Amino acid sequence: MALDTLFVNGNIYTLDPSRPKAHAIGVHQGRIISLDDELPPSVFSEVKDLAGATVLPGFQDAHCHLTHIGQESMQVDIRPSAAPDKSALFNAIAQACQNAKPGEWVIGSGYNQNYLDGHHPTAVELDEVSFGHPVYLIHNSRHMGVANTKAFELSGFPERRGVPIPEGGDVPCENGQAVGLLLETARALIMDHIPPTTPETVATMVEEGSRALAALGVTTATDPGIGAPDHIGMCPQDLTGYQIARDSGRMSMRAIVMPYLTTLHPLAGLEYQGHPLYTLDLGLRTGLGDSWLRIGPTKVLSDGSLIGRSAAMREPYAHSDSTGLMQFSEEFLRERIIGAHLAGWDIAVHAIGDAALDSIMDIFEEAQSILPRPARHRIEHVSVADDKQIARLKQLGITPVPQGTFIPDLGEGASEAIGEDRASLVYRIGGFLRQDLQFAASTDAPVVSACPIRNIDAMVNRRTHLGREFNSEEKIMVEQAIRAYTLGSAWANHVSDRGVINNGQLADFVLLSEDIYQVPAAHITDIAVTSTFVDGKEVWNARW
Ligand SMILES: [Zn+2]
Ligand SMILES: [Zn+2]
Repeated sequence: MALDTLFVNGNIYTLDPSRPKAHAIGVHQGRIISLDDELPPSVFSEVKDLAGATVLPGFQDAHCHLTHIGQESMQVDIRPSAAPDKSALFNAIAQACQNAKPGEWVIGSGYNQNYLDGHHPTAVELDEVSFGHPVYLIHNSRHMGVANTKAFELSGFPERRGVPIPEGGDVPCENGQAVGLLLETARALIMDHIPPTTPETVATMVEEGSRALAALGVTTATDPGIGAPDHIGMCPQDLTGYQIARDSGRMSMRAIVMPYLTTLHPLAGLEYQGHPLYTLDLGLRTGLGDSWLRIGPTKVLSDGSLIGRSAAMREPYAHSDSTGLMQFSEEFLRERIIGAHLAGWDIAVHAIGDAALDSIMDIFEEAQSILPRPARHRIEHVSVADDKQIARLKQLGITPVPQGTFIPDLGEGASEAIGEDRASLVYRIGGFLRQDLQFAASTDAPVVSACPIRNIDAMVNRRTHLGREFNSEEKIMVEQAIRAYTLGSAWANHVSDRGVINNGQLADFVLLSEDIYQVPAAHITDIAVTSTFVDGKEVWNARW
């Protein structure tokens, strides 16, 4: 019986300390079955020459909103980068409307009126390019939108007349007719009438999102929050959408999904020492699934963001009395996080501010004191932390999941929000490793780019978009960043079948244009992922 493929002549970094380098990988049925000359080429049905390319295990983005990435590619891209002026924007909408099925809504995303002569598009302007379709444009802030006349009509406001102005929102009008713009809560007047997302649509988002991620060298992404469209996720049947994509072979790479905490509920009065268990029906929990699609931790947001000054902080924001806020009451979080822990879930909590970090560590500590077990609980972002807090994370066995790319994209804004005197606590990474606390690498895409090379550059060089070094003592080495992107993420995802190139592991790996371990740090961003393999098959190649 012939085995599948032998990849030869590679500059292969295995990430296995007992055997760090190799020159050949044998693959059969999606798994690595040999390294170097362990098996002769004659037993393989195919031998592929890697021509000296540098090979790494595939990147695992431990916090990456895969369906949101897919959704972006299904909406009309009207960001200034794609539609730099009004005529480009209207051309893009016209083209999408002509290609849409009869009656289908056309959604554009990311416009910025500052690139459109300072004016938001109007309903009348959109009507001219809509071909009868309802059209809705989302502003890049996501706090505003513009609808055309058909969209108003389908929402119960023919000719854009009689539109109420809800509390917390606004609908600019002329002569009793809405001009098209909807602010804040008024957006719901239209958005509530856009047909709800179906599992089939989610499957298409997964297909598109996974294709985009495979092209960046990401071979596993963990989707942090599904199934709770009121909070995060696309629809209550998000997992069905993922399964449709998986069953029909439309996933280019692997996914681990995090059901949002509000989808868990007490089950049949089950309790432990007076604490209700929180879980899904049938007792479904972390770990179910296969190598393509797996249920990961349950996810919850505890606070907001630094830029929005809504993360929960120990000290007030700069020039302010505000210390931000928690998204849920302490009691709400405590009961559900402990209940999920007791029901066997790993738990991932978004905590950006240092006060949120304290609260969540308290709850995790209490959960482990009620029922000690080797859970892989994690805290997403950990964007503000001092050394004592990092020591406590280590002591509690909690994995931090920071985002390097926040440094270039959000670093300046974050340090402005928190104030220069406390900015040294922001976006730490080196501090985790100094206390021997392994972290997982992630991007939180599409908040920022999902590109692993950019993320590695950010973790190593720590320059903001202004070119300023940001907390340079938090820099890490290239090998530490790559370790986080492979083994660190595998640990946080509670999987052991990926992260190193070794016998028995999933055959997920990437080829790079240069040896990332040899390139000077200043030139990391010149490196390209040239090819991505998942399950031993090439799912993306730069030449395609
Ligand atoms: Zn988050
Ligand atoms: Zn996120």
